[in-house]
Amino acid sequence: MDWLKTHRNDLLLIAALLVLAGALALFLHLSRHDGGYVSVSVGGEVVARLPLDEDASLPIGTEGGNNLLVIEDGTARMESADCPDLLCVKMGAVRYAGESIVCLPHQVVITVEEGPDGGFDAAAR
Ligand SMILES: [Zn+2]
Repeated sequence: MDWLKTHRNDLLLIAALLVLAGALALFLHLSRHDGGYVSVSVGGEVVARLPLDEDASLPIGTEGGNNLLVIEDGTARMESADCPDLLCVKMGAVRYAGESIVCLPHQVVITVEEGPDGGFDAAAR
């Protein structure tokens, strides 16, 4: 029992470190799968920025008409729009940094950006 008495703090420390390491691994795991953000701009001006990992729907009202942006399962897509060509809706879903959805008639641009934490790419810059 002496061993246990003298090493109890060590064991607690090790247990705490294990928990921390687990939390860190989980955080890294989650952040790696985080597709980052989508920025929504109308007429060249960013009007909203939404995290890709949270389901959401965002109605975008412009002078030309309306678009409905939907974020689901880590992807963003233009659910509906009342523009004449509907190209933005036909573009489908985007999820990777650099991809974008453009609605020319409404001057709406949806762009996927890397998360603020950055990934390995951001750290190397
Ligand atoms: Zn459109």
